[in-house]
Amino acid sequence: MSHSPVPLGTFPTPVEPAPRLAAALGLEPEDLWIKRDDLTGLGGGGNKIRKLEWTVGAALAEGADTLVTTGAPQSNHARLTAAAAARLGLSAVLVLRGAPGTSRSGNLALDGLFGARIAWAGDVDQAGLDGAAAEVCARLRAGGARPALIPFGGSGVPGARGYVRCGEELDQQVPQLRTVVVALGSGGTMAGLVAALGTGSVLGVDVGALADPAAAVAEFAAPLSTEEITPEGLRVRRDQVGSGYATLTEPVTQALRLAARTEGLVLDPIYTGRALAGLRAAVRDGDVRPGEKTVFVHTGGLPGLFGHPDAIAFAEEGAAVFGG
Ligand SMILES: *Cc1c(COP(=O)(O)O)cnc(C)c1O
Repeated sequence: MSHSPVPLGTFPTPVEPAPRLAAALGLEPEDLWIKRDDLTGLGGGGNKIRKLEWTVGAALAEGADTLVTTGAPQSNHARLTAAAAARLGLSAVLVLRGAPGTSRSGNLALDGLFGARIAWAGDVDQAGLDGAAAEVCARLRAGGARPALIPFGGSGVPGARGYVRCGEELDQQVPQLRTVVVALGSGGTMAGLVAALGTGSVLGVDVGALADPAAAVAEFAAPLSTEEITPEGLRVRRDQVGSGYATLTEPVTQALRLAARTEGLVLDPIYTGRALAGLRAAVRDGDVRPGEKTVFVHTGGLPGLFGHPDAIAFAEEGAAVFGG
């Protein structure tokens, strides 16, 4: 089952040098490159667009008229699913963890703007979210709609194909690249990069979204790769999770400030902030070394910064008063 992707994003995304950030990390200025997958276009951009091209392509081939997906309240994937639905004239129902709350900022505000309907699933685990999504699909079908369920984070073998293409772009854009650093959430992004570039070239920084992220990456990458891929053979760091997915850690606040103040680059508190904190730790312990080409994949997530009260409070603290 391999449908054709539906074009949604703007590709290839650019690769930019980051000499001041490189030096601040202890690398040579010419070592570090940023793959701007925050600039994929549609709906504010981010890594989920590449995966949606494949998962929504399959949904259209099945004749779907409504996209259903699951996620956290500040899910970038849910926001971009809503944007893809709007672009294609489809409906979207987002099944989100939690209850309608006081905060409607960040991704949630954009979900509303794109016209998505939200089904609040309560305080449930992933199995509970999947159950709620199955119920939503059943109700939609009973009402005469044709729903397609897009998996959590858009990840799976089909979604990972979108990141095989990103790996192919990088192969062209950064000759002799040694390490690609990327946040690891639901796994499809790292899986596609691993399939395109090989297990040794991709360093995933776990954000704490899954109990066994390496197993997910291996499962999605294996069918797309000629290499034998095992969870143990992957480069995965799990030292940046802190006390959980939604928490803002001290290394992440440092990473947000570092990227912003060396390169004018905005990272987010859940994914890209953790990925840069992980790269920093990897330079410290020698896993990433000066003199080697390193690519940091900026996977987007800016709306999540505005949807995270602690991260916004931290960012605001940084504004010193002139003359004060
Ligand atoms: C979802 C997401 C990731 C992680 O991608 P996965 O394919 O889920 O592992 C990284 N960065 C951002 C900003 C994301 O929204």
